[in-house]
Amino acid sequence: MTVKQSLIEKFISLVDQYDRIIIHRHINPDPDAIGSQLGLKAIIENNFPDKTVLTAGKLGKGIEWLGRMDTVERRDYEDALVIVLDTPIFERIDGNDRIQNNALIKIDHHLVVEHFADLEIVEIASSSTAELITKMVINSQGQLILSPQAATYLYAGIVGDTGRFLHSNTSQATFEAVAYLMSHQADNTQINRKMNELSLNELKFQSFAIDQIELFENGVAAMTLKQVDLIQRGITVDGTNAVTNLPGRLKEVLTWVIFIEKEDSHGEYRARIRSKGPNIHQVAIQFNGGGHEMASGANIYDDEEKKDLVDQMIKVNAQFLKDQSK
Ligand code: AMP
Repeated sequence: MTVKQSLIEKFISLVDQYDRIIIHRHINPDPDAIGSQLGLKAIIENNFPDKTVLTAGKLGKGIEWLGRMDTVERRDYEDALVIVLDTPIFERIDGNDRIQNNALIKIDHHLVVEHFADLEIVEIASSSTAELITKMVINSQGQLILSPQAATYLYAGIVGDTGRFLHSNTSQATFEAVAYLMSHQADNTQINRKMNELSLNELKFQSFAIDQIELFENGVAAMTLKQVDLIQRGITVDGTNAVTNLPGRLKEVLTWVIFIEKEDSHGEYRARIRSKGPNIHQVAIQFNGGGHEMASGANIYDDEEKKDLVDQMIKVNAQFLKDQSK
């Protein structure tokens, strides 16, 4: 899979025209959001040493080990180029209120929801935004050169979004991108070790989370994590990432959802929806969400909606099982 040469040329030409470049990504950042943001910053700095490159947005707890964000002032946006990574919806950009009349580039691997940038480089076949950026470097015919640090950040993004090459978004192109990053001294051991580390509280929380798994018809599983459960066990919302894939390990489970009660919300949930086959993106968009066919997120406002979401998943699975038996 190659990124069109004309898009890479346009990207380089736009970057070339601006002295200051501000890189944004989505709220609730994961390793792909941060890895691609810091990786792209390092690539631009390496190839255009005269430019100022700033990374914008808040860093959640549990991901600080990957790197730091810059302090970005409102006045920095004057005459700056803004690059938005890993975000298909303008509203989900962390710090979007700062972006006014800036020239905008979007680089993303999510299903397209809206067009908001002057240049959009989108490839949903890429496992991650980090994989897509790596392909841009590979296809740039030597115009973009990777430093070992940039390669390490991008490696973290790919490992994060593929669940360590376990998810079905992992392709031949993913491994080619990783091979390229390794040939540029990506520190895979450091990243793998960091991503595998848990605190004692987080490890103990896994057994609590397993007890919360509920099974429904047609291979649906759900887990509800209340704020009080998290607080009592010293777990942050980001710390719940490590339990997201537990229900999917059950043989009989096809799709699953983790409901995480939002802080200070009394009954509003962020839903993490995952699949081993059925397209759950169609369910997520009915509940104020989006993402990918096999991994999406949504917002749930009360217990009734929670039940509705599970019911929709049961329906989607029923259709999937019917189609498979044909
Ligand atoms: P998460 O469950 O937060 O790990 O997210 C899984 C995927 O769904 C990621 O690609 C997110 O960017 C996307 N996603 C999560 N929540 C939302 C939402 N409320 N709206 C749109 N996309 C979302």
